[in-house]
Amino acid sequence: PKGQPLLSVSGVTAYYGKIIALKGVDIAVNEGEIVTLIGANGAGKSTLMMTICGSPRARDGRIVFAGRDITGLPTHEIMRLNIAQSPEGRRIFPRMSVYENLQMGAAVTGNAHFAEDLERMFEMFPRLKERIDQRGGTLSGGEQQMLSIARALMSRPRLLLLDEPSLGLAPLVVKQIFDAIKLLNETEGLTVFLVEQNAYHALKLAHRGYVMVNGRVTMSGTGAELLARPEVRAAYLEGG
Ligand code: ATP
Repeated sequence: PKGQPLLSVSGVTAYYGKIIALKGVDIAVNEGEIVTLIGANGAGKSTLMMTICGSPRARDGRIVFAGRDITGLPTHEIMRLNIAQSPEGRRIFPRMSVYENLQMGAAVTGNAHFAEDLERMFEMFPRLKERIDQRGGTLSGGEQQMLSIARALMSRPRLLLLDEPSLGLAPLVVKQIFDAIKLLNETEGLTVFLVEQNAYHALKLAHRGYVMVNGRVTMSGTGAELLARPEVRAAYLEGG
């Protein structure tokens, strides 16, 4: 419905066994926005992303996507609602070729525009086209990251969840990936929720951001506002 965020997370808690990882998290992502979540190692960023995708499940609180309560739905049903995820560690299919990985991405929602979208991915990431028959597991780290994002995009998601796309990548590759995200957002209105440790780049790219500390959201604001805050600079932009 109009006026409501595309994704809203309210009062969500999540546990690993008896250990609490999310302590009542509230975030919202509006249609057409790039929203980032930053925070230190172990803050709970990846856990939030995984909880949105259904595993671990939210124990308290509510997660609503496109007006529908998805709290507690199994992951495969959530994915079918057109949320696509590029998880931390990429998790591409190592024994499948680049082409087959992209086919798998499209299969989630039965994308009817496969050929067209494949060409778009290859325009955005020409390296993948050169390596179309290469097995995913033999790609470099940066190439795997590109493949992971392209695979997620092949489902034509309404919401793209990205977990640390910059992890372990050379600055030039990070720039290429962030430029691609920006272009998709500007030209197609793609909505993105981006978890990042690379706070500087993430806040530069995002319309809005949240800071997570120890399973709680402690600050929020526009990317520019957060970048300007001394406590953000001190904690997350040291040397950046
Ligand atoms: P990073 O930037 O290092 O990836 P993060 O903010 O994404 O960190 P999470 O991976 O969400 O943090 O971890 C949050 C907390 O939950 C950490 O203390 C972590 O050790 C714990 N945790 C994560 N996964 C598990 C698991 N499968 N079992 C038990 N504890 C876990």
